Amino acid sequence: MGWIRTAALTVLSISFFTFVALFGRLPIFRKTPIGFLHRAVWIHIPHAFRRIDAILFGGKLLYCWNRTGKYLMRENHPLVLIFFLILLVTSQVAFVPAAWPRLGIPHRVCVVVAVILPYLFLYGAVTTKSFITPQNIRTELARYPYDRVLFHPGKQCSTCHLPKPARSKHCSICNACVSRHDHHCVWLTNCVGRENYHYFLGLLLSMSVMLIYGAYLGYILFDDTLQKSLSPNGPRWSRGRSWSSYLHFWTLVVTNDLRLGFVFLLAILTSPLALGFLAYHIYLLWAGATTNETSKWSDWREDVADGLVYKARRSEIYPNHKPRDENIEPPTSWPGKADQVLILTDEPPRVGFAISTRSNHIMQSEDPNAPIDPRWHRVNNMREVDNIYDLGFWRNMRDALKLPV
Ligand SMILES: [Zn+2]
Ligand SMILES: [Zn+2]
Repeated sequence: MGWIRTAALTVLSISFFTFVALFGRLPIFRKTPIGFLHRAVWIHIPHAFRRIDAILFGGKLLYCWNRTGKYLMRENHPLVLIFFLILLVTSQVAFVPAAWPRLGIPHRVCVVVAVILPYLFLYGAVTTKSFITPQNIRTELARYPYDRVLFHPGKQCSTCHLPKPARSKHCSICNACVSRHDHHCVWLTNCVGRENYHYFLGLLLSMSVMLIYGAYLGYILFDDTLQKSLSPNGPRWSRGRSWSSYLHFWTLVVTNDLRLGFVFLLAILTSPLALGFLAYHIYLLWAGATTNETSKWSDWREDVADGLVYKARRSEIYPNHKPRDENIEPPTSWPGKADQVLILTDEPPRVGFAISTRSNHIMQSEDPNAPIDPRWHRVNNMREVDNIYDLGFWRNMRDALKLPV
């Protein structure tokens, strides 16, 4: 019982802290214990550590820590990928041969599929790059229109010296601009972007299915052992038992078969993490945003809450449609459109103000007594803001899978 509790607590704590570290910054957790814990882990504890280190060691510990942290988080090394692969291969090698003789043909077929799929998706997600190059920049510029809310035309990446297409982002770890940038994944040593997002989704889905299926198989095998040893020809072994007796026999049977038992527990304890990632990406597909864009949207949400965002109809502000510079903004076939102009200003825009073409900031009118421009109204809720990259769940999904929308 001792090792089982230690192993369970270790896996559970690692899963929990990974969840907090990755998702704790999301606005939805801001005022919850997960948000507080995230700030404690990323801000308060490092701050306290810095002070103690400065007093005791003159900052030397921090220097080593930073070097290691920078290597682990900011450089493209395969340590996490190797760790993940070792865990995956070891668990499968421990589980499958032990379970195989006790499984029927249908389960054997499912096991083969469940074991192989994560490797195929992992291979695709790791080796497929979504980089923007001088060769594909024309196609990339025409992929999505600039919404002039999150992405503005005419900007250049100062490292790649290429225009920045809408929805792209420069990744300093991959040292490239990435198309439809979602996030840089230390697991994959690669950015998740336009070309490999479908493999990434496949990996999350296949990992979730494999873990849940592994936990289910572990359950039926151990339950079968209990049935055969406690009530071979009689009723269900668990019938009429108290909870403590039920748990007692489960603990006995799980600790009696270390190989199956360990993988069974690992599958139960890590499946919420895989499901959490999957659920988050399904939410992103529902919202029509990438992980990168959610942080930009949350900035807008804060500005809306502060009353700084004003909106008008584009057709009213620019009644004479100016032809666009096709070198900067080539025509796109993306169907999402919005008749909106958003601006950021701390007082209602007055007649005669100017809008910056590179951002949403405005230059107020030179005449402070000019009348307030009636075409604008203050945005009170994010629902009033259109996201042109959101075409609805199924079409967002088709776009993520690289199918025509
Ligand atoms: Zn770049
Ligand atoms: Zn990257």
